[in-house]
Amino acid sequence: MRIAVLREAAPGERRVALVPENVTRLVKQGHEVRVERGAGEAAGFPDEAYAAAGAQVGDAGATLDGARVVAAVQRPSEAQVERLPPGALLVGLLAPHAAGPLLERLAARGVDAMAMEKVPRTTRAQSMDALSSQATLAGYKAVLIGASALPRILPMMTTAAGTLAPAKAFVVGAGVAGLQAIATARRLGAVVSAFDVRPVVKEQVQSLGAAFVEVPAVAAEGTGGYAKELGQSEQERVLAAVAGHVKDMDLVITTAQIPGRPAPRLITAAMVRSMRPGSVVVDLAAETGGNCELTRAGETVVDGGVSVIGAVNLPSTVPFHASQMYGRNVVTLLAHLFKGAEADLDAQEEIAAAMLVVHGGKVRA
Ligand code: NAD
Repeated sequence: MRIAVLREAAPGERRVALVPENVTRLVKQGHEVRVERGAGEAAGFPDEAYAAAGAQVGDAGATLDGARVVAAVQRPSEAQVERLPPGALLVGLLAPHAAGPLLERLAARGVDAMAMEKVPRTTRAQSMDALSSQATLAGYKAVLIGASALPRILPMMTTAAGTLAPAKAFVVGAGVAGLQAIATARRLGAVVSAFDVRPVVKEQVQSLGAAFVEVPAVAAEGTGGYAKELGQSEQERVLAAVAGHVKDMDLVITTAQIPGRPAPRLITAAMVRSMRPGSVVVDLAAETGGNCELTRAGETVVDGGVSVIGAVNLPSTVPFHASQMYGRNVVTLLAHLFKGAEADLDAQEEIAAAMLVVHGGKVRA
């Protein structure tokens, strides 16, 4: 089967869907891999490395010609969509909740599409889970960005010039990104606390050496391991607890998300104004509206001396490892979907059924 990788079209996107080591593996499995010239350049994977791994490197037209699978990180551009071969399967982070027109166009073209966001959060699908692999890196990077923006250092330091107190970091939302942010902030020496609405998370937070901020009678575990939206009285109790805690924090990292919904609002403007000047909020939920009321996606807002950083697409800022992990997710998914080198896709199979957002000319999302 022929697998194609295009240069990503989304502005600022530096990742690539497959890296050379993935190509080696796919070729060994009997597939043919074609890569558009320059596709891996921004991630640190030159064309020569793809060629050495057994890929054919060429222009977009030659790359797409006869492709059964087109592997992508983000959505293709309109121009790319017009070139996708009918009958192909597009696999990528397609943000299907907000991709109506794109999915319609794909369906009209006879291109099937699978959204990596829709991977079931099960043990079986863990190695195909790009949400997790990319969120891990985002959580790590958020702490580095916050640490760089702070006017102070994170660890305690005892020196001849005096003893410096460690910074206090608070992580809101302790899913995949949040847990990695906790681990990273701890490694850098901060005193870390965290909050999540899913009670099961408390133990995970504590096992990383962070304190869990308790809010009595709040438990919002939804389906598939995700959180659900809070009721009004729960939300009020959460906001009161967060307000009491946040005013003493130097660094706040927010990662709270509800799938398919705007990000829950957890840090109000008044809370930001209660923080000491120089403190920093890094909002990983910026792209879905932000956990902080002052967040603007892709911008840093300074209010009362507190910086609110609306972080977007952090995995793309560590494109080498983000691509390596994403590529591994894609290869595992393809091996699961297509048992032989030329096999057809079983659209009824559990993981395929969950991830297919366009199939047989119809939008399923
Ligand atoms: P996510 O990105 O959807 O949300 C991030 C975190 O925000 C979650 O922990 C969520 O509980 C929390 N949150 C939501 N609303 C909140 C609020 N109002 N206040 C505070 N926190 C709030 O979640 P995710 O990181 O993708 O992980 C979701 C779940 O899936 C987790 O249980 C994770 O352990 C699980 N998971 C399982 C697998 C697997 O078994 N294959 C893989 C990855 C994740």
